[in-house]
Parts: sequence; structure tokens; C-alpha cells
Amino acid sequence: HAPSDYVGRFAPSPTGPLHQGSLVAALASYLDARAHGGRWLVRIEDLDAPRVVEGADRVILEQLRALGLHWDGEVLHQSSRHQAYRDAFDALRRQGMVYACGCTRKEIADSILNSRGYLPPGELPYPGTCRDGLHGKPARAWRLRVPPGDVRIEDRWMGVIEQDVAADVGDFVLFRADGMWAYQLAVVVDDAWQGVTDVVRGEDLLGSTPRQKVLQTLLSLPVPRWMHVPVVVNADGQKLSKQTGAAAIDTRRPLAALQEAWRHLQFEPLPAADAPAFLAEATDRWARRWEIRGG
Ligand code: GLU
Repeated sequence: HAPSDYVGRFAPSPTGPLHQGSLVAALASYLDARAHGGRWLVRIEDLDAPRVVEGADRVILEQLRALGLHWDGEVLHQSSRHQAYRDAFDALRRQGMVYACGCTRKEIADSILNSRGYLPPGELPYPGTCRDGLHGKPARAWRLRVPPGDVRIEDRWMGVIEQDVAADVGDFVLFRADGMWAYQLAVVVDDAWQGVTDVVRGEDLLGSTPRQKVLQTLLSLPVPRWMHVPVVVNADGQKLSKQTGAAAIDTRRPLAALQEAWRHLQFEPLPAADAPAFLAEATDRWARRWEIRGG
């Protein structure tokens, strides 16, 4: 494969070992990078302290190795990047795009209930209560003043997605009440810093993508291409995750695990003698499926 400018990444949260759901995202991002003749990076997203499991990062990396999913360069841990998030936050603050918020979850819910008469399902849009000041409350979190208007995403798998982030999500959190940088800020800062050109990840993160594009635009960062692949759900239709009791990948049978992830990506079964042979063939099939040239 010829060298290319493509840089992809797999960014697991070390909340437990890889399961069949996280493997789908790992495999898709790996194949897309290799099909483009690009680099494939691994970033450990270990900012969310209450969810991080000690040692899970090492387990994940061992699993990737056992599956033959070899990454390029050094593994980046988000826990080593606090200063970079602080710098981006300060840049937004200097633009007047950040404000302190003193609202609790309950206050946000009450305020929405008061103005609409009902609570919308899912994540509650922030009603902007503290936009013009804290009204005497102590600061808890810091939010982005989201510019109004539709944000358009062209996703390679899902097609065109538009979202009015200001209306649907509202001013989202950059620095959390528990003293932690928000996922949205950290991802955008790291993807830019690592030179990521292509984000390939699970569909469960599609809803975050317009927020990330808002941040990239405000921070004058390059906007990557996106591809959101179907996520694995259990019999109850819930996303497979450690929380829903997903089992760890059995790395004694790497080929079987890869085959299952491959089927989930909607490909025909691919006969292969072992994991390396499978990955080589799957890379070619992936390139053909997505009409990737010059990889
Ligand atoms: N760390 C996130 C997760 O495991 C993925 C972040 C991303 O790919 O942008 O769900």
C-alpha cells in the first residue's frame, strides 16, 4: 500500500475489556485506515474517572494485538492531555464563547417542564438559564455558547445529517461539574492534535458529531471525514456495552471474533486460514466496497 495522508484512530474508553460491540468500531476504523494506506492510531479515553477501570487499557491493547489489529505509533492517553484541553478552553473563553453554569440536573429539568409543559425524551437540551449570569448560584460547570443554525455533517455511511445544535442540545458542557473535561472537547482537541483525517466509529456517537463540528469550527481546527458504523445491540435492542453486560472478546479464537464483527459490518462471510490472512483479505474487500483507490 502506498503512503497516504490518511490518519484514522480507535478511541476506546477503558471501562472494561473489548466486547463484540467495541470490536466492530475497532475493525471498521482499522480496515478503513489500511485500505487507504494510512496510519491507524489508538487513543485511550480515560478522562471519565468514575467509569475508568484500572488496567483495562492494557487489557484492550493486548486484545488488539491478539486479534492482529496492530496500531501505528505511540498510544495516547487522554489523562496526559489536561493542558491541551485547558488551552482550547481558554481560547474559547477569550472569544467570549464560554460561561459558567450553576444549574443542577433537577433545575434544568424543572425549567424545561415549566416552559414546555413536558419533558422531551433523552438528553435534555440546556435552556440557557445561566447565559447571562449565575443568578447568585455557585458555578458548577462551564458551557459553550452555541451559535444558532443548522450544522451539516456528511457521513460516509449514514449520509447527510443536519442538526440545529443550539436548539436541540443547547449550550453544552465543556468542563463538568465533577471537575473533568467533557468528552466533546477532549475528542476534538485530540483528533486535531493527532492529525486525524478520518473518524470511523459506532453510530451511537453520531449524535455527538454536530457538537464536535461546532467546536472544530470555533477552534479553527480541521474537520475530519466521518463514518458511523452500525452498533451491536443485544436482544433488548440496547447497545452492547459493559453496562449491559457484554462479554469480553475471546482472543483465543481471534478469527471467529473478527468474522463476527465483519458480518456485523454487513459483509458476506470471508473464508480465511487465520486472523492475519483474514485482515489482508478484508482490507481489499473494504477498499472495493467503499471504492477506495490508491490505498
Ligand atoms: N471513547 C468513546 C467510546 O468508547 C469513543 C470516542 C470516539 O470514537 O470519538 O465510546
